[in-house]
Amino acid sequence: MTTQILVINSGSSSLKYQLVELPSGRALASGLAERIGEAVGRVSHAVGDGARHVVEQPIVDHAEALHIVLSQFAEHGPTLDVEALQGVGHRVVHGGAEFREPVLITESVLAQIEELSVLAPLHNPAHVVGIRAALQIFPGLPQVAVFDTAFFASLPPAAYTYALDAEVARDLGIRRYGFHGTSHAYVSRQVAEVLGVDLADLNQVVLHLGNGCSASAIRGGVAVETSMGMTPLEGLVMGTRSGDIDPGVVFHLARVGGLSIDEIDALLNRRSGLLGLAGDNDFRALMGARAQGDPGAALAFEVAAHRLRKYVGAYAAVLGRLDTITFTAGVGENNAAIREAALSRLECLGIELDPDANAARSSEPRVISTPDSRVTVLVVPTNEELAIAQATAELADG
Ligand code: ADP
Repeated sequence: MTTQILVINSGSSSLKYQLVELPSGRALASGLAERIGEAVGRVSHAVGDGARHVVEQPIVDHAEALHIVLSQFAEHGPTLDVEALQGVGHRVVHGGAEFREPVLITESVLAQIEELSVLAPLHNPAHVVGIRAALQIFPGLPQVAVFDTAFFASLPPAAYTYALDAEVARDLGIRRYGFHGTSHAYVSRQVAEVLGVDLADLNQVVLHLGNGCSASAIRGGVAVETSMGMTPLEGLVMGTRSGDIDPGVVFHLARVGGLSIDEIDALLNRRSGLLGLAGDNDFRALMGARAQGDPGAALAFEVAAHRLRKYVGAYAAVLGRLDTITFTAGVGENNAAIREAALSRLECLGIELDPDANAARSSEPRVISTPDSRVTVLVVPTNEELAIAQATAELADG
């Protein structure tokens, strides 16, 4: 029997949704309500056949956004049959140290998500608003929270502890939490399936390269290290985020540069990374500029590739034995040049890319290493909505 799950990702002024059919995993419809609370809001609703329908009107809050979304379903399809709807899955960025897996949403779970807002002030309050709206509109349906951090709740203390004054760190909840966990978990399971081996037998590195970028080391299906930290700012070079940087730079920006904490936050989170180095955070634009000989774009590419290579080497050391490296997300799935640059000169680790397989374009999971490569390198499209839908169905069933 097929069922449907509505997946919701609510931001402070937006609400993204996808209606997922299970077990096929087909996206029956998807869309975005944005500019909620502003003078004119906008809902863009895409149905499975690709047709897109846009309405512009004021949207006072997330509940009204959901009502408009429902009217879009009624008007343009597919029929959102509340009888066939098995549950609603919500993406939640921060689950702290508490939430180690998806949970059915109750009042106490909502209160905990709200309390975790200190760690994700831009995200968790918005999730709570979106969840409340969905509870109001679908009171009879099971609703599930799927946390970005949960997959990394398994990190060992040596990996999640920052070498700070222990009391200060404890009091303020300062530790590595990791993000993009739903994607890393989904992709690592896919790798086992694609290769036809037991997940428990694989030591994997997963590189999620989108606008945000993160790396993870996964032993037997259990995450043991990841590059994002207490916040999604740490680690790889990203579209607009710096990734790793000497914390002393922050003092220098304040003392010598005269920047306020908020200005430094904006600089490192929104004006750094590829954007800061090359003037554009879109990887396609960066590749275009690099091809035209733009020195900023060329350097940005090298810095990003160098950082990736460092992480691959470090995670090979953390794992002891490395079986697979997998690229995923917008850049990882589509850009052969960064994959090649990141893994060049790593024959010492048993990594040999097959240039033709790497260059071939496909939307299917695929192997891009040579048959002789000790480490199997793959490209596996991520699908966070599907992973959230599956987790929701599992809990809604139980
Ligand atoms: P996020 O979900 O973090 O916003 P995505 O996973 O959608 O990001 O990735 C966005 C990035 O992927 C952008 O930098 C975009 O340029 C890049 N990207 C998407 N398609 C391609 C492509 N065909 N070739 C190269 N880069 C691509």
